[in-house]
Amino acid sequence: MVFDYAVIGGGIVGTSIFNKIIRKGKSCVLIERELDLSTGSTKANSGLIHAGFDAKTGSLKARFNVRGNDLVEDLAKQLKIPFKRTGAVVVGNDIEKLNALYERGINNGVKDLKIVSTEELRMLVPNLSEDIKYGLYAKTAGLISPYMFAIALAEEGVKNGGVVKLDFNINKFTFSDGIFTMCGEDDEVACKKVVNCAGAGFNEVSKLLNVEEFPIKFRRGEYIVIDKSDFVKLSVFPLPTALGKGILATPTIDGNILLGPTAEDIDDYDTETTNNGIDKILSYIKSTFKNVPLNKNIRQFSGIRVSVGDDFIVKKSDKNENVVLIAGINSPGLTSAPAIAEYVVEELFCEKNKDINLIPRDSYFQGDSGRIVCRCEKIGENEIIRALNSPVPCYTVDAVKRRVRAGMGRCQGGQCMIEVCKLIAKRYGLKLEDVKKESKNSFVMFNGGTYEN
Ligand SMILES: Cc1cc2nc3c(=O)[nH]c(=O)nc-3n(C[C@H](O)[C@H](O)[C@H](O)COP(=O)(O)OP(=O)(O)OC[C@H]3O[C@@H](n4cnc5c(N)ncnc54)[C@H](O)[C@@H]3O)c2cc1C
Repeated sequence: MVFDYAVIGGGIVGTSIFNKIIRKGKSCVLIERELDLSTGSTKANSGLIHAGFDAKTGSLKARFNVRGNDLVEDLAKQLKIPFKRTGAVVVGNDIEKLNALYERGINNGVKDLKIVSTEELRMLVPNLSEDIKYGLYAKTAGLISPYMFAIALAEEGVKNGGVVKLDFNINKFTFSDGIFTMCGEDDEVACKKVVNCAGAGFNEVSKLLNVEEFPIKFRRGEYIVIDKSDFVKLSVFPLPTALGKGILATPTIDGNILLGPTAEDIDDYDTETTNNGIDKILSYIKSTFKNVPLNKNIRQFSGIRVSVGDDFIVKKSDKNENVVLIAGINSPGLTSAPAIAEYVVEELFCEKNKDINLIPRDSYFQGDSGRIVCRCEKIGENEIIRALNSPVPCYTVDAVKRRVRAGMGRCQGGQCMIEVCKLIAKRYGLKLEDVKKESKNSFVMFNGGTYEN
């Protein structure tokens, strides 16, 4: 079969484009080199749907952020995933800078934006330090699970005829008579048009396609995760600096609190967490808030922002008009993804027909949890089995964790991981020792056979 489109890279940008192409009634294959979707920047970020006041007016970031913010609510409803407009506030004492951000937001087309008084600020953020006087409040900002957003978009696409290929390592591309042929280790895919949205792997894919490469830079952001708490009920930012939006305190859609991210330029894609990073977060958070529930810290993690200059790159290749290049999608890429997809599919590929109605995806949560497997998050066997049987293959421990949150709680999988491994092994006919945590060599059990199934 020759697909109309191939999308390379299964982060939020790739899954959004894949889903949009399927909505236009075209055939599409989504290619991902890892064992699950959403293992790059999309798995490790703040999970915020930004309002859109931060990006420079006239930039692609500003345009796609504001449009993406508009699109997310309906999409989340259709996909049956949680999304809440909890709002965001930028806090500080420099009223001129806050006013400038307000003006920029208005110019970008952000609705429901206002400078709040000290009293209103205290109501919004009771745990804010008394030293901080002013805030810029954006009512339209919201929270979503970034990985679940991407996975649900892909699941809906597959349910409606799309194809997802995981663990596909492209080692060759050929292009002749208007058809691309992409060779993996033991598989081959043919298509008419290609979207390169491979994030940190963008240049690798571009080289194989013989199209443009860009100077890609990496900036790491570290976080501290706090167990469920009402420490803050909306996202609280400092005033932005040249390094980005700064360290924030935000609830997640699932009720945890995230403190972070830091912003450290690094040479390689490296997601380690460091003492230095954690110290920076603690020092800022302690100077800005009171009653910080640090005794409920359950994890640290980091994510990597991938950038090319100051703005997103979303355009057709000058070398091959059948290739679209998407590079440097750092923040607000999660928010922007639905708008990037709309632009790529409708404007760049000229698929202007109305979206067709898709068969909805099934939620894993249908009110009959069965035997509880993850006690911290109260996730039942039936929910895990539904995730394992969903249209996009799910066969690693972290793939289960991203879908149903088994292992996301305060014991971080200490209690349920082995039960999850057993369910994966049973579903896929694997030996228990062959179950992987996340990547190809991340076996959960060493010296196979030591555990009695
Ligand atoms: C610390 C941090 C905080 C952030 N906070 C926010 C936020 O709150 N709100 C917001 O809007 N944005 C936020 N962002 C930005 C957002 O996370 C990213 O813009 C977005 O996730 C980028 O998605 P993507 O699909 O472009 O890239 P990725 O998610 O990295 O996806 C690229 C995919 O391509 C795959 N790939 C790579 N090479 C190949 C290959 N050769 N073949 C096949 N597949 C390949 C990768 O495995 C990966 O799955 C944040 C980012 C970071 C790092």
